[in-house]
Amino acid sequence: MTTPPRTTSSPTTGGDLPPLAGGSGGPDALRPLLDVVLDALRTGALARGGPLPPGGPRHLDRSVAETVAPVIPDRGRGAREALRSLVEAFAYGAADPAHPRCAGHLHTPPLALAVAADLAASALNPSLDSWDQAPAASALEAEVSRALAAEVFPRAARPDALVTTGGTEANQLAVLLAREQHGPVRIVCGANIHHSVRRSAWLLGLPEPVTVPAPDGTTDLAALDGALTALHDGPVLVTATAGTTDAGLIDPLDGIADLCERHGAALHIDAAYGGPLLFSHCHRNLLRGLDRAHSVTLDLHKLGWQPVAAGILAVPGSARLAPLAHTADYLNPDDDTEAGLPDLLGRSPRTTRRPDILKVAVTLRALGRDGLGDLVDRTLAAARDCADLIGGRPGLELHRRPVLSTVLFRPRGASDTAVAGLRRRLLYDGRAVLGRAHADGRLWLKATLLNPHTTADDLDTLIALVEGSSTR
Ligand SMILES: *Cc1c(COP(=O)(O)O)cnc(C)c1O
Repeated sequence: MTTPPRTTSSPTTGGDLPPLAGGSGGPDALRPLLDVVLDALRTGALARGGPLPPGGPRHLDRSVAETVAPVIPDRGRGAREALRSLVEAFAYGAADPAHPRCAGHLHTPPLALAVAADLAASALNPSLDSWDQAPAASALEAEVSRALAAEVFPRAARPDALVTTGGTEANQLAVLLAREQHGPVRIVCGANIHHSVRRSAWLLGLPEPVTVPAPDGTTDLAALDGALTALHDGPVLVTATAGTTDAGLIDPLDGIADLCERHGAALHIDAAYGGPLLFSHCHRNLLRGLDRAHSVTLDLHKLGWQPVAAGILAVPGSARLAPLAHTADYLNPDDDTEAGLPDLLGRSPRTTRRPDILKVAVTLRALGRDGLGDLVDRTLAAARDCADLIGGRPGLELHRRPVLSTVLFRPRGASDTAVAGLRRRLLYDGRAVLGRAHADGRLWLKATLLNPHTTADDLDTLIALVEGSSTR
């Protein structure tokens, strides 16, 4: 038997062809370009100087339009010029979640190590729709998704997880799997449910979900019991939330799981935000009952510090994923699958699919459970500090002590219109990114803290800024 010569192609360097990122020569082509990108990132961030650029959308739209024109020049401007000008404008015009006053949404500051790993994913560009496009990537995805699923379902025999584009896709898949397993399910959810669950019902042709009150921000158990008692014909899927987007609250998961058992309903828990508390020794008890769900959504591009996208749908048994089985002759013909080539199409409704698992695997290995737990603990501690600071300011009102890392507050005595105006003023001045949420019939400013580097001084500056900008 002859061994074929093992050559690694180098990027095309001949003529004026732009070099490729892969092969043994790819890194040499990339290195100088990365220098341009990194310099442009720094220059843009320095020019911005704050969490986002001042001027609001009109000003920024104009400056981006000027930078990018002509979008398709007749003669190319070359890699360096294009990278420098556009990356600089992109960085200048960013709402940068690494800035301590960028705290509006579940918009995470990604870890440098995860971004570095993502570069390798882009350079090699494996696509997870067939093994012959992603040999190591598919093996890594299988290992890491099983390990993550085992964190969620430690007592399950064959836990497994799908990698998704985020919580929205994970919730959609959870509803789809429930429909395929039980028939056209009626979703029953708290009023605190993420909007993507309602949209999933619409997308999948299911009836409008039954909504149960969540008067204090979490699903009311007596009301849920009543709703489940009233729905005695047809399959039911209860969806609960571990970490609401508006207030960072956790539904009574054990109580909800008890009710689902008693009424024979399936249970999905959306832990997009709160799921990574599993890594924290101090806080994992807040998720008691999570492993009683039939499926769980996790979003590692929130409290997992991954660049988008890094969603997970975990299930206690891989057999639950069977409804996604699908064949396309060019990707997973039966004879290939029988001969032992892994069948990847059943792991997503997408076809071409990025190896988002690489950055996740690198992060888990680099930090370990302790390192991730520490980041979770620091982030939650920053939220408690923020609440303490607000509590000490007579001009501000705190909604309640945070459970996760979301703090709702408002200038005392301000109207809802004044609260909304204050938020936009801070945005347009480029001084702070805060979110907004309704609770108890009023509009609140929302600080969603995800940056584990945030210091007490940073929080003090943010709070002082709000107090000083308030006009009632
Ligand atoms: C963020 C979030 C989602 C949606 O996740 P995406 O990654 O934005 O698709 C779903 N549910 C909850 C509770 C969330 O916080």
